[in-house]
Amino acid sequence: MKAIDKLIAPLDKALERFDPLWQAEHGTGGLRSRYYDKTGVAKWREWRGVKDTLYDYTAWIKNIICMVQMVAMAPLPILKGFWEYRWMGSYLGTFMFIDRLFEGYRGPELRIAHMNMHAIVQSLTKRIAFALKNDARLGGGPDTENIIPHDETITPLFLKGFKGLYPFPLQTLPEFIICDVDQHIEPYYVDVAESFGLPADVCSRCAAETGVAIDDAFPLFGKVMLSTNMPCNASEATSMFQRRRIGKPDFPITLAMQHNEKEALPYSRQTLLDAIAFVEEHYGVKYDWDEFFKYAKLMNEQNTIELEKWDFFKTPYSPLSGVSESLYRLYSWQSVNGQDPYFNKVDRKVIEIIRKAYEQKYLPFGGKTRHRAFLWGPSAVYYTDFPTWVQNCWGITIVLNMDSTMGFNMIDTEDPEKALDDLTRFTEKACMRHHAVGGWDNINALWTWAKEFNCDMILFNDNIACKGMLGTHALMEEQAREMGFHFIFVEHDLEDSRTVSRQDMRNCVNNYMSVVLGEKPLDPTIVEFDDAAAY
Ligand code: SF4
Repeated sequence: MKAIDKLIAPLDKALERFDPLWQAEHGTGGLRSRYYDKTGVAKWREWRGVKDTLYDYTAWIKNIICMVQMVAMAPLPILKGFWEYRWMGSYLGTFMFIDRLFEGYRGPELRIAHMNMHAIVQSLTKRIAFALKNDARLGGGPDTENIIPHDETITPLFLKGFKGLYPFPLQTLPEFIICDVDQHIEPYYVDVAESFGLPADVCSRCAAETGVAIDDAFPLFGKVMLSTNMPCNASEATSMFQRRRIGKPDFPITLAMQHNEKEALPYSRQTLLDAIAFVEEHYGVKYDWDEFFKYAKLMNEQNTIELEKWDFFKTPYSPLSGVSESLYRLYSWQSVNGQDPYFNKVDRKVIEIIRKAYEQKYLPFGGKTRHRAFLWGPSAVYYTDFPTWVQNCWGITIVLNMDSTMGFNMIDTEDPEKALDDLTRFTEKACMRHHAVGGWDNINALWTWAKEFNCDMILFNDNIACKGMLGTHALMEEQAREMGFHFIFVEHDLEDSRTVSRQDMRNCVNNYMSVVLGEKPLDPTIVEFDDAAAY
């Protein structure tokens, strides 16, 4: 034991009764005890022992510093942004969101989680400042004409061959990220879309994006717009609505739907080339492969470390799992995509911690894990803090989420022809596309993933408005029985928490765990509680 640990051990012992994990074990409280009813507002911060509580405070301060830097970067545009855009206010809930995400985290789990989350916070705050500073609605800025706005499901990496231009995923700020933080923001945009005549049974992600467009709540910049058919037909529809409302010249990057078939490659490859030609024409710049290779190398490093992480995930000794794994991978793959070396730095530090934990045969979450689950779930799992909740309540570790399995092939960094093939395969495996749409084998891959990662359970999110996936419901159920997994459908309405509440989602797991498996919760205070008013 290190000297410092010896020194604080008596203090930890004296204060352990304030630790909600200890309270749950001893029947004196639990993780929900410190909240005001119905809200996500805590009466006090979580006591995690001296060392971890101090670490948690430091991480909190580091995130606040990023917020201050963001305001300092563009004070007036930020102020105008709060005035102009409803979604800006939702970002104020970020701190509560992070606190809830990492409840019950201790030791290396907590450190990795904060490293990953801080990477996202530092990146997002810079992006918000950059977007608002150059937003034509707010008066514009020096880079307004140098930005390439593109659909969030298009990987920005291939656009890095345009030196001096900035790819920007248009939906990320008002929808893709903020829907994870605040469950109350996207229903407003869904209502805007529906009051304009959009049917009420479409996917709420696509409806929300349409509502953002109609509400004129997208920041405006760039000379063109790159839309896409990714990941599905509902996305195609919302792309059309956005394109009409925004009114800029648009290039739809339509990638082959059945992308696993090798005949699809030349078609999708040509689409990327056409998109490059479109940007060249409108911005008057030439594509530079050497510039692209610089960023492809960073992406390759991201993926190399990711693949090494997967080897550790297959064992019981990985301190990286649950939300800190899935949210980080979602952002670092889909939005960062090799563009920010800070993420490479974080990856290198995190893999060191994971290697060490493995050598020491460290059992995360106090060794209380009872089930290892593969999660097949999108946004609704974040505003519900779902992976954290299943861990704390039922001892279910989310080993890997479907979003984490996005394009993990390496990209050639010398030959443009080979690079283009690799890039096409990589781009086709973007968020939601390769596991929900584009052929039965994509969905069926679930069983292989779950088996390879030694999972005994699958949490399968059942988006009641995702038309493609609805069709597979009974087939998945039938197969699950044959394959012998514990299989739980978790119903949700993605970004509209009014249709299926957070507690409704939790009940899907509660019922299975108590009725089918007859298990007792680790923390009875979080089995059933009302947090409908929380962010
Ligand atoms: S949830 Fe389904 S319908 Fe909605 S965007 Fe994703 S794939 Fe499309």
